[in-house]
Amino acid sequence: MLEGVKFIDEMNLQSKKVFIRVDFNVPVKNGVIQDATRIDEAMETISYAKNEGARVILASHMGRPKGRFNPELSLKPVAEYITGRYFHTYFAEDCTGGDVKKQVNDLKDGEVLLLENLRFHPEEKANEPDFAAKLCEFCDVYINDAFGSSHRAHASVDGLPRKCNEKAAGFLMKRELEYFDMLLNKSERPFYAILGGAKVSEKIGVIESLMDKVDKILIGGAMAYTFLNALGAKTGKSLVENELFDTVKKIIKKADDKNMKIVLPVDHICSTEFNGKPEYVAEKDIPDDLMGLDIGNKTVELYKKELSDAKIVMWNGPMGVFESNDFCKGTFDIAEYLATLDAVSVVGGGDSVCAVKKAGVSDSIDHISTGGGASLELLEKGTLAGIEALKT
Ligand code: AMP
Repeated sequence: MLEGVKFIDEMNLQSKKVFIRVDFNVPVKNGVIQDATRIDEAMETISYAKNEGARVILASHMGRPKGRFNPELSLKPVAEYITGRYFHTYFAEDCTGGDVKKQVNDLKDGEVLLLENLRFHPEEKANEPDFAAKLCEFCDVYINDAFGSSHRAHASVDGLPRKCNEKAAGFLMKRELEYFDMLLNKSERPFYAILGGAKVSEKIGVIESLMDKVDKILIGGAMAYTFLNALGAKTGKSLVENELFDTVKKIIKKADDKNMKIVLPVDHICSTEFNGKPEYVAEKDIPDDLMGLDIGNKTVELYKKELSDAKIVMWNGPMGVFESNDFCKGTFDIAEYLATLDAVSVVGGGDSVCAVKKAGVSDSIDHISTGGGASLELLEKGTLAGIEALKT
């Protein structure tokens, strides 16, 4: 996976325009950043480039502005945050154009400029060659440190590095890639995966590819109900993707053939509606008027037992609607148990990372990935668009 990829500490950055694609897609409310983790995580790479005498140009997307300027999705608060907490950072009101060019050309060695949200231009998502060519003017050296965005072949992740001769991955990217490389190549067993979240359809690819790598998959969240229903259990009003029954049945058959275990919930916390009163259902079948919103206690105990001899555990996706106090217990119980395990533990995906943090056990998890979608795609395909573009 890493063959052919250079890292930032192998590059000569002195007096060069160093374009760093970062992931500053942080939550902002009324101009105030709610969680700056992603910015803080990128500081190692940015500070390194600055200290090496680079003229640093930072670029990121934020949210989904649909190709138009939207003041609520401006990166300006990020430039202010870095200036307040770390060092002065200039801000450009756009990411291309004459004014930005002037700001880039005025940069002195060791200075930092943050460009405005790349996705204010539809050409970013469309991976337009002309847009990549414009960004390329700001780029003697290209660095990708945006692991969480690297599964998307957008202009700043794919088209741009393909046009650059000097390119490398940053330190955050390096940490992530080395960890997943280790995970994919590690021969230690047993290796278990815990998958949760809303939709099977978004995780079907990763389930299929994980079946070749792991010894057991424990399933929670709404995903579990599609599996249970396909196997003939009653799931009431739970979120079920009927169109996936055939696929799910094939997965279960393949698991049987391989002697690989897929473990499903045996009891549930339910309600008549999403925000309704919680009701415990002590068996696999859910009455017609209820929907499953969390795994029950028997399932938590079962999952703990199933995980107890693990050497590696990978977790992505909550076990229930963990945003609600009534349906978060299963997710937090699993997070707490993971922290006690004598196994290499890897957590990815915004919701599971949030659960691990809220449970106060992040220090006991070996690797907390900054990219949910990216880490799943990496496990599924063994590479990412952003990695491949660095090799060309
Ligand atoms: P994902 O982005 O696929 O990891 O899904 C995360 C979302 O799944 C969270 O917002 C959860 O509230 C939601 N979720 C988890 N379990 C359930 C469930 N049983 N029913 C409905 N939504 C769920």
